[in-house]
Amino acid sequence: MVQVHDTAVRDARSGAPVVAGSEPSPAQIAATIADAREAATWWGAISFQDRKARLLAYKHELVRRQDELAELISVEAGKPAADARVEVMISITHLDWAAAHAHRVLRRRTVGAGLLGANQHATVGYEPYGVVGVIGPWNYPLFTPGGSLWYALAAGNTVIFKPSEYTPGVGRLLAQAWAEVDPDARVFQTLTGTGRVGSALIDAGVDKVAFTGSTATAKKVMAQAAERLTPIVVECGGKDAMIVAADADLAAAAKAAAFGSFGNSGQTCIGVKRVYVVDTVADEFLALLDDELAGVRAGGASDANYGPMVMPQAPAGIADQLADAVAHGATVRHGGAEAFREPYVDPIVLVDVPEDSTAVTEESFGPLLVVNRIPDVTEAVRRANAVRLGLGASVFTASRAVARQVAAELRVGTVMVNAALAFMAVPALPFGGRGDSGFGRIHGADGLREFSVVKSVSRQLFPLPFDVMTLHHDAGNVGLLRTLLKLRHGKW
Ligand code: NAP
Repeated sequence: MVQVHDTAVRDARSGAPVVAGSEPSPAQIAATIADAREAATWWGAISFQDRKARLLAYKHELVRRQDELAELISVEAGKPAADARVEVMISITHLDWAAAHAHRVLRRRTVGAGLLGANQHATVGYEPYGVVGVIGPWNYPLFTPGGSLWYALAAGNTVIFKPSEYTPGVGRLLAQAWAEVDPDARVFQTLTGTGRVGSALIDAGVDKVAFTGSTATAKKVMAQAAERLTPIVVECGGKDAMIVAADADLAAAAKAAAFGSFGNSGQTCIGVKRVYVVDTVADEFLALLDDELAGVRAGGASDANYGPMVMPQAPAGIADQLADAVAHGATVRHGGAEAFREPYVDPIVLVDVPEDSTAVTEESFGPLLVVNRIPDVTEAVRRANAVRLGLGASVFTASRAVARQVAAELRVGTVMVNAALAFMAVPALPFGGRGDSGFGRIHGADGLREFSVVKSVSRQLFPLPFDVMTLHHDAGNVGLLRTLLKLRHGKW
């Protein structure tokens, strides 16, 4: 079982340290921020084209080191090698998108000045904050923080990355790779350590915080950021529902439910946690899900379907939810007490789980799936929306009209139709949650704007024949204003 007290790179399967590391002192944290702030002056001032060239050079360096990167992800986050490769592939796609689109999205643009401002030329521009502190989790140690890091950099900010204490090696590699391709290593720095380092980073005065992690930690981080009025984007956990309509391709839905729920040992913020399947097709769906899970096991070997639960206390949390659901009357369809071989936990499927059990109401950050029968899609949406977490959801149906309707009614940030986790491969789609899942957006054009300060500029082209910006109004102007208001906004 992994017990972390330092910032060594550890093997998530055994807990064995692979490379030693130590936590920075308060003085080192302060010096890192000072360096980042100095570098932010020139990094924020160079052209979008220059930044793009450096970001693409960085991308090439990460691709050159892809084997090392994938191996580190696999070791630290306990993933099968193929899963780590997929994470690298998707993350590089996002880096490329952010570099390529920053100019189009963030360049200064003209907006209409309107009748009253007809003598003004009006423009809107997007400027970097300065130094962005990115605090990341361990479950996707590249993809998840990359959604903030790449977009913040492309928007002209320098970044300081505080990776999870479980994945310091990936964090260090990302900063080292930057130093290889850019003469100014201060643009991308990594500080490894426990939550104390993340907390110190906020106190030391970064200009924006990008936090990804649990809702409980987010509340602490937000309260701390509030002390300095530091803006924050918050990406937290989810309890994503998959809605399976009577006309759905049930085989595709079962496959997506199995992968979306148990891939990465269920340690996926936007994994499938609850399936609401229409009663008339529920038995067939469950049989297909059984087929998908036949022989699926967690393990440390290269042919395992997924790896360990990374946090030492996590299996106990899943066992508690299982016990609570069974006590409330749920049926264990797959797995059960014998699923636990810590740190490995085999797939657990619970059926007909009362909606007030913790397996339904709280995040299950592990391989536990709830499947509940519902009379119709309307009831499925009602139940999907009943929890406070609102990250993502999916719907399987042959009807575009039903898909559109369900997508409109779900209180989440991302809806996937006839697929699970599909949004990850589409960099143009903004990502983020509602309710306890957080606020703000990473990825896409909105992700670039998340790391930008909007600045409006108006330039007077000529004086108006009647001046309303004066301390010395004449009666003629006031009369003209009255007439204009009536003509433009009155009811005729
Ligand atoms: P976590 O325990 O909340 O930690 C997240 C990060 O915050 C870690 O780097 C952690 O450092 C740091 N931290 C802890 N206390 C802090 C404090 N007081 N001040 C500043 N930083 C602090 O979450 P986790 O276990 O790493 O990740 C799992 C959670 O992340 C799940 O809830 C999952 O759903 C969510 N998640 C969300 C998304 C998304 O995009 N919405 C993506 C992935 C994961 P240490 O690790 O050193 O404690």
